[in-house]
Amino acid sequence: MKLSERAEEILEAMWTAIEENGEGFAAMERIGVAADDPAFDELTKRAFIEIKEGRITFRPEGKKEGRSTIRRHRLAERLIMDVLNIRGESGDNKACQFEHLLNEGVDAKVCTMLNHPDTCPHGKAIPSGDCCLEARRSGDLGVVPLTELKSGEEGRIAYIQTEDNKKMQKLVAMGVLPGNPIHLLQSSPSYIFRVGYSEFAVDAEMAREIFISRLQG
Ligand SMILES: [Zn+2]
Ligand SMILES: [Zn+2]
Repeated sequence: MKLSERAEEILEAMWTAIEENGEGFAAMERIGVAADDPAFDELTKRAFIEIKEGRITFRPEGKKEGRSTIRRHRLAERLIMDVLNIRGESGDNKACQFEHLLNEGVDAKVCTMLNHPDTCPHGKAIPSGDCCLEARRSGDLGVVPLTELKSGEEGRIAYIQTEDNKKMQKLVAMGVLPGNPIHLLQSSPSYIFRVGYSEFAVDAEMAREIFISRLQG
């Protein structure tokens, strides 16, 4: 059965507290949830946590669950803040809502799209998933802005990140669409690339907004 959102929040708060104090337990008052909250029962019944004298510790299954919950939370933060460009308090709230949607499978897709990031926007570690290990093993080079490609390098367009609708329309009209192969011909003084049979020149600002899945050379 799926955990309640409140229970997931407790696991996250525990993970963060333990990460910060390095003592192997989280003090009850650090969790920000009333001690008589039913979510604590939910977690103890499933043998996820143990509460003793105001100290909460993970049991092995709970630690596993906490790890994947914090992973989803921090990936959601990256997605909301970096890709959707929503920051500040509103970004934090959205990340908290969004993480619950990143269940099995979806988190790997988001992680891959973000190029398997090591840290959240606050600099905290994102526990790696199978997708990250697999990417490292297979030499997948991940997704980078067009500006990171070397002249002559080929890749595939992953996504375009721009707030400017006109620019987006221009790119789409040029055939710069996710999934299309792209070949960077020249990177200075402007970026010249080929998509399909056409060649295009864009400035660095626009090149930074086009994200490319690199292929192994
Ligand atoms: Zn964070
Ligand atoms: Zn990954």
